[in-house]
Amino acid sequence: MIKAIYPGSFDPVTYGHLDVIKRSSKLVDELIVGVLNNNAKTPLFSAEERVRMLKEVTKDLPNVKIIPFEGLLVDFARKTGAKMVIRGLRAITDFEYELQMAQTNHKMEPEVETVFLTTSLEYSYLSSTTVKEVAAFGGDISQFVPPIVMENIEKKRK
Ligand code: ADP
Repeated sequence: MIKAIYPGSFDPVTYGHLDVIKRSSKLVDELIVGVLNNNAKTPLFSAEERVRMLKEVTKDLPNVKIIPFEGLLVDFARKTGAKMVIRGLRAITDFEYELQMAQTNHKMEPEVETVFLTTSLEYSYLSSTTVKEVAAFGGDISQFVPPIVMENIEKKRK
């Protein structure tokens, strides 16, 4: 059985993330979307809110689980028994950081392999950060995020 973790901040989940979730869920038996609760960052949405939105948008994918985690990804992988980490690569700018992370994680836990999915062209420009910026200035984000995320961002703005 292949169990994989797709880790990230998902602050908030975008159609780009959802695309990676859908595509990778077809490649593995079980996909755990690991929602990083990082105290060093100040997210727009709490981990619980991010988990709730992810659960809503993945409810039709039976082999996808949403689980929050803190600390090292390799520890989370050991705890869940996942041997694969999925990451998305948007552009060359993602590459250096992702390469470092994957190699560091592999040094710490050689049993865990990182697998990269290149993003679908239509979402390669998308990031949670730009979505938040556009929303903060009142722009239309309906092309970037699912309706539940739009509603929640709208609530935060009020
Ligand atoms: P992090 O804070 O760990 O970068 P993100 O939530 O921003 O977390 O991203 C999680 C993962 O999703 C990363 O592998 C990132 O490259 C990928 N990702 C982000 N945006 C997109 C997108 N538009 N299309 C595909 N993958 C994406």
